Parts: sequence; structure tokens; C-alpha cells
Amino acid sequence: MRYMSTRGHKDQLTFEDAVMMGLAPDGGLYVPDQWPQLSADDLRALRGKSFQEVAVRVLSPFVAPSLTVTELETLVGKAYSGFDHSDIAPLTQVGDTHILELFHGPTLAFKDVALQLLGQLFDHFLARRGTRATVLGATSGDTGSAAIAGCRGRDNLDIFILHPHERTSAVQRRQMTTVRDSNVKNLALTGTFDDCQAIVKQLFSEPETRARHNLCAVNSINTARVLAQVVYYVTVAVALGAPDKQVRFCVPTGNFGDVLAGHWARRMGVPMAPLVIATNENDILARTLATGSYRMADDEAGGVVPTLSPSMDILVSSNFERLLFELLGDDPAALRGHMADLKTGGFDLAPGPLAKLRAGFQAGRTDDAQTLARIAETWKEHGVLIDPHTAVALDVALRTPSDVPTVVLATAHPAKFPAAVMKATGEHPALPPHMADLFDRQERYAVLPATAEAVRTALLGG
Ligand SMILES: *Cc1c(COP(=O)(O)O)cnc(C)c1O
Repeated sequence: MRYMSTRGHKDQLTFEDAVMMGLAPDGGLYVPDQWPQLSADDLRALRGKSFQEVAVRVLSPFVAPSLTVTELETLVGKAYSGFDHSDIAPLTQVGDTHILELFHGPTLAFKDVALQLLGQLFDHFLARRGTRATVLGATSGDTGSAAIAGCRGRDNLDIFILHPHERTSAVQRRQMTTVRDSNVKNLALTGTFDDCQAIVKQLFSEPETRARHNLCAVNSINTARVLAQVVYYVTVAVALGAPDKQVRFCVPTGNFGDVLAGHWARRMGVPMAPLVIATNENDILARTLATGSYRMADDEAGGVVPTLSPSMDILVSSNFERLLFELLGDDPAALRGHMADLKTGGFDLAPGPLAKLRAGFQAGRTDDAQTLARIAETWKEHGVLIDPHTAVALDVALRTPSDVPTVVLATAHPAKFPAAVMKATGEHPALPPHMADLFDRQERYAVLPATAEAVRTALLGG
């Protein structure tokens, strides 16, 4: 298997190089150059298999020849050993709707599913290369804690995560700052999340800084993150009757990585109804499906609209580029044209690509008031507490009924967003046992001015 850049760079990479590189040199995202198929018999053979066994079966063609099946088994085994449920991603139910719980990892959000594996992959490839690397990232809360959990204690990796001082929730900060491993460094910058992100971009753009620390990124454009997420679409489809029956997935969407993984599972042969993209008020994807025009709304010039589902607060979805490439017939020149137009406001999809998009996807949008109402209703009618991201997807699913059994992806544990859950239900969601003492643990972080200079010095161990 080889990986090609959506923007047409001449080099086609192995899995190892695509994972270590993250973004292609031409700014494009890596996509597989072929789609291994799961036949009806292959899907039947997965019935009764564990999550880890399905992961190895689904991922092995994508990682060859960089990893042998035995190596992949070992890494998958280590990646999912820290989950607090033996099914890794268990299925439950709220009324007639299936709920896929993706929050049983160390930081209580679905990003753990991919980042636990990515940390293992980085460490393995670095050991083989005999080098060390430094993961550098900025976070407003969620991704940072999942990245730290994926990289902590790894032999060949250091991780520096920048967060805006006193601007993350206490649960989010503590999930990062109470990690004691010596390869984890938390930097609280006296600025905004945008300042943190700008500094990370700046340091990545300095060839000398990049080379000195062998900087690498764990953001959601890494191909391995999307691939790791394909696995649970397969386990769920098989559990609910694939290949003989279809399922419909409804996915709370921000950067489009999660729902893209669903589409990739479908390309591999998993039968499913059109994927439902659920958005909050930051609804560029829902508007694109409705109008064929991918552009920011006039009133978004000032930035994202902050909502109760902050992990979905986006202006544009970075992983949409991978789907767009496919909709445009794998044509890098056409893709580059659309991305250039996006810089100056947006682009319109031609009728052909728009028809393909609408054949594969539907979308719905929910605002904060509906999100709270859905959390309240789910508690009152079913006695189940759900987080605001899950609530957005459940709300969209219930407002667009279908004959096909529906699976809503529950992307965060309710205790990760206690304020919204309290507001809707009056109930305080309890942290799971492995986190119960989070507020008693010792924190460790440095407070620094929000400048590239300060972070550069910190990277040097100063
Ligand atoms: C990141 C995240 C999302 C959005 O996922 P994308 O892959 O960016 O679309 C949804 N819910 C939660 C809780 C998240 O952390």
C-alpha cells in the first residue's frame, strides 16, 4: 500500500513515512492509493471477534509493508490495554437508537481510540530508526489530553502541549497537567488558543527548530488517525448484521476525521445507509450539502461560534479535503484549485461532485438550546446522561428518521462536560473510577508568555 498527497506531490509514501510526515510537503493530506475489500464472507468471519482482532484484520493491508501482522498485533494490544471496557467501543441503546460509546479510553473522548495507537506507532518507528522526536501541539482542551495520554511514557518521544492559561476547563487542564511522566511537558501560555496555535505553526515553519527537535504533529490530518477510526465502524456493522443488514451512522462532526473514517469503511465494502453528518451552529458542512457551496457564512468572519460542543467548533473541516479529492475524481489539479479558492472565501461544487456527495452523506444542524433539550429528554425518558457532542448527533438522528437501524457515535463521556449536563438535567455526572481522584492529583505545568521565543527556549529544556 502506498499513500499519495491529495495535492499531487510526486512522492508516494509507505505507511511509516506517511505517519511520520503527517502533512505532505505540498500541504496536501495523504490518502491510500487503493481500497482493500472486505467481502461478505470476510465480514461474516469477523462475527464474534474482539475489537483488537478486527483492528488487525482491517488495518493490516494499510500498514504493509511497514509493519508485519505480528508487529501490528503487538501495537494494537498495547494501544487498547488502557481502556476501561473490554469491548473497547461498546454498543448500548437509548430507546430504539443504538449508541456507540467511544469514550472508554484514558481521557474519556473518542480521540483516544486513534491517539493511543498513534503513540505506539510513533514510538515503534522511531525505535526502528534509532532517533527521538518531539510532538508539539496546541490545544483548547480535548486533543491535548488525548495526545498526552497517547505519548506518555513512550521511550523515544517527548511531548510539549501548549494550552491557553486559565482558559480551559478544570477537567480538561487536569487531564493534561496531572500526568507525571517525565517526557510530558505542559506549557500554559498567557494568551488565547489562537496564540498557542500560531506559535506552533511558527515553530513548525522554522526549518532549524523543526530539524533540531525532529518535530512531529498529532493533529487530525494524520492518516493513521483516520484509519484507526475505521475499525469501530466495522465492529458495529458486523455486530448489527453486516453483510446481510445495513446500518446508519450519525456522527457528531468537527474536522471531518470521524465521519470520513465511516466513509472509508464503506469504501472497503461495509454496507451502510448514507452517513449522517451532525453539526452544531458551526454548520459549514450542513450548508454545503444543502447548497453545494463550501464557504464561511458572512457572520463567521470573526471566527467560530462558541457552543456547548466545543470540539465541533470549526470554521472549515481539514479532513474534508480528503473526501473532496475523491469527489473530484482523484484529480490533484482540481483539488488545488478548490483549496486556493477556499483561501479567498470558498468554492462551489460542480453538479457531478455534488451529486456524489449527496449520494453518500446527509447532514443536520442543532443549536445549543436543542442540545440542552436533548440531554434533558434523554435523561428524563431513558435515565441516561449524554454529553453535548453526543446530544447533537442524537438530536439530528431523531429528527431525520430512517427505516435503517441508527447508530449514534457517543464521542465524549458526560463527565467531561459537566457544566452542560448539569444545566440540562440538574445531575452532576460522575467521573469513572480511574479518574475519580482527578481533583486530588498534583498538577505540573509552566506558565509562559505567549511568544515563540519562550516556547523555543522551553523546547531546549531551559
Ligand atoms: C474531536 C471531537 C469531535 C469531532 O470529530 P472530528 O473527527 O473532528 O469530526 C466530536 N466530539 C468530540 C467529543 C471530539 O473530541
